[in-house]
Amino acid sequence: MNRVKAYFFANMSHELRTPFVGIVGFSELLSESLQNPEEKEMANQILKSSKRLTETLNKILNVTRLEFDKLEVKLRDIDVIEMIDQLKILFSKSASAKNISIKTKISQDEIVVKTDGRMLDEMITNLLNNAIKYTQDGFIDISAETIVRENKNYLLLKVADTGVGIPKNKQEIIWKEFRQVSEGMNRSFEGTGLGLTIIKKYVETLSGKITLESEIGKGSTFVIEIPVEIVSKKEVNKSKEIVLKQTQNNIEIKSRKPKILYVEDDVIALSYVDKVLKAFYEIDTAFNATIALELANKNIYEAMLLDINLGKGIDGVELMQMMRKINGYNKIPIVAVTAYAAESDRLEFLAKGFTHYLSKPFTSVELRGMLGKIFNS
Ligand code: ADP
Repeated sequence: MNRVKAYFFANMSHELRTPFVGIVGFSELLSESLQNPEEKEMANQILKSSKRLTETLNKILNVTRLEFDKLEVKLRDIDVIEMIDQLKILFSKSASAKNISIKTKISQDEIVVKTDGRMLDEMITNLLNNAIKYTQDGFIDISAETIVRENKNYLLLKVADTGVGIPKNKQEIIWKEFRQVSEGMNRSFEGTGLGLTIIKKYVETLSGKITLESEIGKGSTFVIEIPVEIVSKKEVNKSKEIVLKQTQNNIEIKSRKPKILYVEDDVIALSYVDKVLKAFYEIDTAFNATIALELANKNIYEAMLLDINLGKGIDGVELMQMMRKINGYNKIPIVAVTAYAAESDRLEFLAKGFTHYLSKPFTSVELRGMLGKIFNS
C-alpha cells in the first residue's frame, strides 16, 4: 500500500509541477518585459497566483510524503544569526506592507551550530509567515540563543507576535494536518493548515520540541528547542574564504559564453529555458536522448541540463550514464532538472552521477543562480 501511495505521489508531483514551469516562468518573463503598466500588473498577478499555488502544492506534497518517507537529517555548520538576518530581510517587505516591524533579539556574538539547515530555514520561514499573516499591527520578535541543560547544548528559537492569538481550546488541534483555528466556509484566514504540522515533524526529527504560548487578542509565541553541537565561527569563515577566492579567480576567466546542452521533452519548458539562458550561454536543446547523444558527440559542452522523464525510450538517468562514457564528459557538471522533487529523488539522482539538481518549477533567478554557481566554482 505504501509503495502504491509513494508511486502515486511521485507521479502526481511530477504531473502538477511540469506545467508550472510554463506558468511561473513565462509570467515572470512577461512581468519583466511588458511596458504597459496595466498589462504588467496582470502578468504580476498571474505570477503571484502561480507562486501561491506552487507553495500550496509543495506543502501538500511535503506533508503527505512525511507520512511514508523517513526524513533524512543532514547536519552542517549553520550560522543561525546570518540565517535569521537573511530571513528578516526576505520578510521585511511583506511585514512593512502591513505596518509590522520585525525585531531581532540576539545577545550572543555568534551562534553557529551543527544542524539541518534546510529544516531550520523552513521552520523559521513558516513561523514568520504565520506571524505576519495573523498579526494586524504591532511587531514580531525573533530571538535566538544557545543554552546548556544537563551537559547538553540546545538551540532556542523564539518567534513572538502581537497578533490575533490562539484560543486555549484550539492550541492542540492546530498541530494536526489541515487544521486551523478558523475553519468552514466563513473562515477568516486563507491557508492550508499544514505549516505547523511540517514544523512539528521537523522539530521531532531533530529530537527537539516546539511549544506555544498564546493569548487571544494579545499574540502568540512559538518556541523551538533543539539539541545541537556548537561550532566555532572561525571554522565556518575559513571555508567561506576559500570559496570566495575560487569564485573571484573564475569570474576573471569566464567572460565568454559557456556552451551548454539542455535535454527536455516538454516544449514549453524547452522554450522557457532557452529564452532565459540564451543571453548568457550558448545553449543547444534536444527533445530526446537520441538527438542529445548526436549533439554531444558533435560538440563540446561544458555542462548539461537533463530532464529525467523524457517520454518514451531512454530516460534522463540512463542518458546521463551514457553521456559520462563519451570522451570529455565523464566529469562535467550535469544537472538533473526535474519535477521529481522529493528529497529522496534528489539524493538518488546525486548518488547516480548527477552533479547538481534543480526541481521544477523554478524561476529564472534560480536557474541562472545554479548555472552561475557551476561556472564560478
Ligand atoms: P495555515 O497558516 O496555512 O492555516 P498552519 O499549520 O501554519 O497553517 O497553522 C495552523 C493554524 O494555527 C492557523 O490556521 C491559525 O489558525 C493558527 N496559527 C498559526 N500561527 C499563528 C499565529 N502566529 N497567530 C495566530 N494563529 C496562528
